[in-house]
Amino acid sequence: MQATTTSFGIEEALEQLGIKEVNKGTSTGKNWFSDGEEITSHSPVDGQVIAKVTTTSKEDYEKVMESATSAFKDWRLKPAPLRGEIVRQFGDELRRLKEPLGKLVSYEMGKSYQEGLGEVQEMIDICDFAVGLSRQLHGLTMHSERPGHRMYEQYHPLGVVGIISAFNFPVAVWAWNTALAWVCGDVCVWKPSEKTPLTGVACQKIAAKVFADNNLPEGISCLINGDYKVGEMMTNDKRVPLISATGSIRMGKIVAQAVAGRLGKSLLELGGNNAIIVAPDADIKMTVIGAVFGAVGTAGQRCTSTRRLIIHESIYDKVKDAVVAAYNQLRIGNPLDEKNHVGPLIDKDAVKNYQTALKKVVEEGGKIIVEGGVLEGEGYESGCYVKPAIAEAENSYEIVQHETFGPVLYMMKYSGDVENALELQNGVVQGLSSAIMTNNLREAEHFLSVQGSDCGIANVNIGTSGAEIGGAFGGEKETGGGRESGSDAWKVYMRRQTNTINYTTELPLAQGIKFDL
Ligand code: NAD
Repeated sequence: MQATTTSFGIEEALEQLGIKEVNKGTSTGKNWFSDGEEITSHSPVDGQVIAKVTTTSKEDYEKVMESATSAFKDWRLKPAPLRGEIVRQFGDELRRLKEPLGKLVSYEMGKSYQEGLGEVQEMIDICDFAVGLSRQLHGLTMHSERPGHRMYEQYHPLGVVGIISAFNFPVAVWAWNTALAWVCGDVCVWKPSEKTPLTGVACQKIAAKVFADNNLPEGISCLINGDYKVGEMMTNDKRVPLISATGSIRMGKIVAQAVAGRLGKSLLELGGNNAIIVAPDADIKMTVIGAVFGAVGTAGQRCTSTRRLIIHESIYDKVKDAVVAAYNQLRIGNPLDEKNHVGPLIDKDAVKNYQTALKKVVEEGGKIIVEGGVLEGEGYESGCYVKPAIAEAENSYEIVQHETFGPVLYMMKYSGDVENALELQNGVVQGLSSAIMTNNLREAEHFLSVQGSDCGIANVNIGTSGAEIGGAFGGEKETGGGRESGSDAWKVYMRRQTNTINYTTELPLAQGIKFDL
């Protein structure tokens, strides 16, 4: 039975986050405006209308850009550790509001409440990381070839960072970008997905309070709302030196061209087609947990979701039976109810894509071994709940080459050495996440070597799904090549300057060139 939203405390969560029936969707901080058309946010959990958000018009966008460009002039002058202190306070506000925000993420996007909380935790973690980083925006010093000269490089902020995000990580991706960009001295303008506008409004309110409490100007954190047309205002805008865009490969190709056309920078985090290689001496129990969570967690709507299992022929039947048995245990239903493993897809279009994929794989010669289907009846009124499905398929099928954003897992065999498995794994256009399950050191090291996985993320004895904020996150090939979050990902939010200082009374030229006057 579908429990009411009241029993999960959604109304209280909305109240705590300041979400009204109709919300202005454009903000420069404390200042909220825009009377554009309204986006209605429906919950995929129960199909109900949660609230509405007004979209950003061209005029509203201009106001945002004026505010952001003017705020940058002030914000860039604050010492980086002071900017870190503001991010620390922002992290504390997120700690205070973790439960309501996690609940809204779950209700608006459809992921489990645990995952909603996990997403807010990622925001908190990146804030902590950014606070430390605010004292470590290091450049190098180098030895000059000229006597009496000093050379070093330093990093300055870029200016306005435009963030375009996808529906499936409605809040964490914004925080990965903003927490770093803010300590770097940039200001941010965020366009969340039109499918999850309320989490955007909630986050902006949290950030705006922190900036206002510290008497900082409007414009350091800005929000705009709407579909791709609003996104295009930023991608075509020369005042935005960096566009960080997360979403489909289709979107990434359009954004990349628009930004490159004006010689701006883009940071692209696009689709994946992630595989787990299951080698002959893999631990089967670990493999099943990694594969099943990877394929059905978030109903297969993670960029790092496991889409392909590439299993050695010697253990194929054993792994297949164990994974199929685990699928039979899955409980599908309201993601706010902790009993359930699998929640809904985001909307009915996603359901159609899932159905098309299952039809296509059969047309191409694949065999369904765990039946899919759309669930109906009590508890499934939204029409977005589907059964996780598995098909035996060839890597070369057109549909297998394509990322279907839902719980469809393709199983395939390999024989011989791990090279053969890698050929299949790397034989797709995407290059985000990859994994090998093995207890064989040689195979594991080969998988990680230059001849191994071509993905941005390569794991041993862990599935493909999820990542920790300490590492740089992103993928190669058509996944876009961007890196966000930990390690030295901060450098993309800054411009590098090489400085040479001559402290002599001579002016020697580099490379020994003589220019006597
Ligand atoms: P989407 O491409 O439909 O939309 C993503 C965002 O781009 C939205 O905000 C949308 O309004 C905007 N957009 C679309 N076209 C645009 C254009 N021409 N100009 C400017 N903005 C435009 O993606 P989605 O359905 O929201 O998300 C799912 C996709 O995102 C999957 O492919 C998934 O793999 C990918 N994703 C990747 C990562 C990663 O880190 N690599 C993380 C999360 C999601």
